[in-house]
Amino acid sequence: MKLLLHMCCAPCSVYPVSALQEENIEIEGLFYNPNIHPMEEYIRRKENVKKFSQDKGIPVEYIDEYKQETWEKFGGAEEQRCNMCYSVRLDKIAEYAKAKGFDAFTTTLLVSPYQKHELLMELGEKFAKKHGIKFYYKDFRPGFRQGQQQARDMGLYRQKFCGCIISYNESEYTKKKNN
Ligand code: SF4
Repeated sequence: MKLLLHMCCAPCSVYPVSALQEENIEIEGLFYNPNIHPMEEYIRRKENVKKFSQDKGIPVEYIDEYKQETWEKFGGAEEQRCNMCYSVRLDKIAEYAKAKGFDAFTTTLLVSPYQKHELLMELGEKFAKKHGIKFYYKDFRPGFRQGQQQARDMGLYRQKFCGCIISYNESEYTKKKNN
């Protein structure tokens, strides 16, 4: 099976890549994360995905789009905001996978216990149906700690917040409060 793996960042890619390779699945990566804030953070995550995938010999396509404005203006609840965030990614990934002849797509977001796992499953299926391609679901969460440790050992950058401007502001606020 030829699988398109959406890579949200390098540390979260470590475990899914090793698990998929153990299953002898042919992987290609796609970096498409248009709401990482600020730009320096976006570049840092992208560069670390590059470093990791080159080390593992995985080809990765990079789609650079910056949609941060949508999140800056967003005033809704967290559930809606993350729904929008996952939808933007999964829609593009499914569309890309179909256009490029992959058998299925999946995302490294499924490794993180901090993400809304059930929502990711639901939206993965939704966009698979929309574009006529299979969503490869796997619960990678049991390997999260192991992957993070390996990322640390490999010297990969490990971010302290989820990604969008709202999560960035929240982490800055917590940092200031604790200092
Ligand atoms: S908190 Fe994380 S998942 Fe939710 S909108 Fe922000 S970047 Fe996306």
